[in-house]
Amino acid sequence: MKIECKCGNYIVDQTDMVRNKAILIADQDWFDFLESVEETGHDDRELSRTLYECDECGRLYIYDQNGSLKCFSPEDESHNINILASMEGDNWKRSLFGGWWKASSAIRTQKGYVECEGEDTYESTEWLEIKEVYFEMFERLKNENRLRSALLRKDGEDIHFWKYNKDA
Ligand SMILES: [Zn+2]
Repeated sequence: MKIECKCGNYIVDQTDMVRNKAILIADQDWFDFLESVEETGHDDRELSRTLYECDECGRLYIYDQNGSLKCFSPEDESHNINILASMEGDNWKRSLFGGWWKASSAIRTQKGYVECEGEDTYESTEWLEIKEVYFEMFERLKNENRLRSALLRKDGEDIHFWKYNKDA
């Protein structure tokens, strides 16, 4: 998904937990939405819509009830870029991924990387380095209570998996 903003910037939505994206539930639908989560254990996506903020100019893009994209421009220049980001600020719970592959395949330009939103991506061809950096980052983010899930894979095999549990 890619929106070309009126300012020339591109708004790209290719991963989860996008900083300049939010889910909109109409107040008139709010109780139906809560009931669907309670009853089925998952949300009723038909009640939700997506909105995006442009990183450059602060314009908001909202899908209307018919799926048509509408643009709203900020009234003044002191608008708050990142207005759709987490209420937790930089403490939102993110996902950590580490992966390493034995042979270089056409889709991978490097043999291993550790990736987490808001952190520098680490690349290495050495499995032991990938593993070390992954667990360093894992311990740090977990201790800071800023982690939702973590996955480490070695040549397609899951080596380590962890998921946040609020009751634990
Ligand atoms: Zn823009």
